[in-house]
Amino acid sequence: MNDKRVAAESIFGRIAGFIGKDIKNRNESKKPVVVIRLLLISTCFYFCTNIFFCMPKISTEIILFFFTFFAVFVGLFVMSYRCSTSATLIVFNIGMVVWIWAILHFLGWNIGVQHFLMVLLVLSFFATYRHYTIKCVYAAFLASLRILFFCLYYRGIPAFTLSNTDENALQIINTLTIFLCLSIISLIFSQGSQKLERKLVEYNTQLEKQANTDMLTGLYNRRKAMEYMESLTGDNKKQAFCVCICDIDFFKRVNDRYGHDYGDEVLKAVSGIFFERMTGRDFAARWGGEEFLLLFVGCSKEEAFRKLSEIREEINGTKIQKGGVEIGVTLTYGLTEYDFSRDLSASLVAADEKLYAGKEQGRDRIIY
Ligand code: GH3
Ligand code: MG
Ligand code: MG
Repeated sequence: MNDKRVAAESIFGRIAGFIGKDIKNRNESKKPVVVIRLLLISTCFYFCTNIFFCMPKISTEIILFFFTFFAVFVGLFVMSYRCSTSATLIVFNIGMVVWIWAILHFLGWNIGVQHFLMVLLVLSFFATYRHYTIKCVYAAFLASLRILFFCLYYRGIPAFTLSNTDENALQIINTLTIFLCLSIISLIFSQGSQKLERKLVEYNTQLEKQANTDMLTGLYNRRKAMEYMESLTGDNKKQAFCVCICDIDFFKRVNDRYGHDYGDEVLKAVSGIFFERMTGRDFAARWGGEEFLLLFVGCSKEEAFRKLSEIREEINGTKIQKGGVEIGVTLTYGLTEYDFSRDLSASLVAADEKLYAGKEQGRDRIIY
């Protein structure tokens, strides 16, 4: 059972590899040629069905004519491995138009072969990289051809009159083949664009994250902090919140004594505590250097002070270790409530002033 599955998978893989084989030394996308090959396989299969279906009913000359078409399309399949995709595509289009015209002439309008023009229309838009003007001109040409065929064959009497049952059977074969061809084109080209769109969305998310995040600490950066505060203070949604700007005490000394790398480690450790504590709508960002901005959303000043005191206690109780060095740091915090009557910058200035008042008073404290 397993062996059979493996064998089937390997056969399927080989067929897929054969159809998907690239054209050597040609700077072309692979998808159009794969679509054309699949369309050629489908149409060759369709020709065979038509030939076998018509064989007992119509003349040998016409059967030979159909055989010629079958041979041309097999040749086109081979051509798709040797020539450029556009050359194959052009011959495919000419071949299909002649085929449609011939079938209309021999067997009439009622079997629905004219709908193959839709396949050519869709194919021209998806599988070629020509300018839109050329595509539109080609679409207009196909529409005119459809109208011309209608005028010539809709009421005309075909060279061979088929019974109603035969006409219905051929109509079904044509419909199935046309749907198959359209599905092949849509599937292969939509799959690619969907993958591309998904990649683009992922790439954009990644870019947005990078643009909003501080690389060293993983906290939001100043840009995102401004954006977030603006979202809280927008015209229609004035939201109560408290702003805190805090700064590591004597951080220059840490750098000078233990090195810049150790300083970075301290920044990461402090940020880690902010990250864990500032959950929900609360927000923490690296405001710059060794300064941080904290936002307590929907909190009174008292509530924000309580939360901030807990954070301060945790930071003060934390020892930061790296390369045999273990130290603790403190921060000074300036806390203020957002003032609805003034603009945002006034609250930021107020928090900053309180921070510097705290520094002057001896550091390691919350001023509010
Ligand atoms: P104060 O208590 O008054 O804030 O003193 P301070 O030493 O912390 O203040 P000062 O502004 O003099 O020093 C801040 C230092 O922070 C200087 C700068 O080199 C350092 N710094 C800024 N950004 C980084 C960084 O990303 N990594 C490291 N390791 N140091 C940084
Ligand atoms: Mg400092
Ligand atoms: Mg500073």
